[in-house]
Amino acid sequence: MTTAAEHGTYARYNAEMASGEKPCDLCRKAANIYIREWRAKSPRHQVEKARERARGKARRALAFRHRAEFLRLVDQFMASDESA
Ligand SMILES: [Zn+2]
Repeated sequence: MTTAAEHGTYARYNAEMASGEKPCDLCRKAANIYIREWRAKSPRHQVEKARERARGKARRALAFRHRAEFLRLVDQFMASDESA
C-alpha cells in the first residue's frame, strides 16, 4: 500500500477498498460518517428528501380521500400475505 493515510479516515477506507482488502472497522465507520455528512449537505439529497416527504403526504391524502378503497386494499394485501 502506497498511501500514508491513517486508519479511521475516509482516505484510508478508499485505499483499503482499492487494494481489494476488507476495510477495517475504524475505516468503515469513518467512511459511513463521511458519506452521511456529505449526503446531508448534498443539494440533490435535499431535493430527494423533500420529494419523499411530499410523496408521504400525497399517500396519506389519497388514503384519506379514498378511505373505503384504501381499507379494502389493506384487507386484500393482508389476506394475500397470510396465504403466502
Ligand atoms: Zn483501516
